Amino acid sequence: MSYRDLMADVAFHQLLLAFDVDLACAVRAGRCARCGGALHSARYPRKPRGRLCRLGPEHDRRFSFCCAADGCRSRTTPASLRFLGRKVYLAAIVVLVSVLRHGASAPRMERLSQAIAVDRRTVERWRAWWRDGLTSTPWWRMARAGLIPPVDPAGLPGSILDRFAGDAADRLVALLRFLGPVTGGRVHAR
Ligand SMILES: [Zn+2]
Repeated sequence: MSYRDLMADVAFHQLLLAFDVDLACAVRAGRCARCGGALHSARYPRKPRGRLCRLGPEHDRRFSFCCAADGCRSRTTPASLRFLGRKVYLAAIVVLVSVLRHGASAPRMERLSQAIAVDRRTVERWRAWWRDGLTSTPWWRMARAGLIPPVDPAGLPGSILDRFAGDAADRLVALLRFLGPVTGGRVHAR
């Protein structure tokens, strides 16, 4: 399946949601990292761009938890394969469009470009984030050590996508999972 077909596939978006449910359940089973208090659901609404109209309202909610202890109320937000920090587009679109605009000219990327219109300034902001924002996080300094041979930061995110095997869905899911640590918790992607 091409990336374009994948982004138009309801089952793929359901799969991403299912991963997010699993990640949320794991956080829910734990305690507040600050005080050990119980965590209560505190989902909040998102309106991700690039979202399929056919999806239900459950796709517009970001899983999040709030400590139940008075005086703490710390928020814990699980990692997500759908939302990349505060970016308004779906994480998968941020990844794929960034790969596309980096010079990849494979036919499947061209077809994706025709299907998803993102203005150039937004794409430039994303490229700056991959190059400077992501690579300045403490997470990246650890994560890059596990990438052998080293990836070229200037080629992100395509230089990481290329490391994963399988079909388009496998590779995209693997990359979104890899990025998980910067999508939630206390480290927020900007
Ligand atoms: Zn707490």
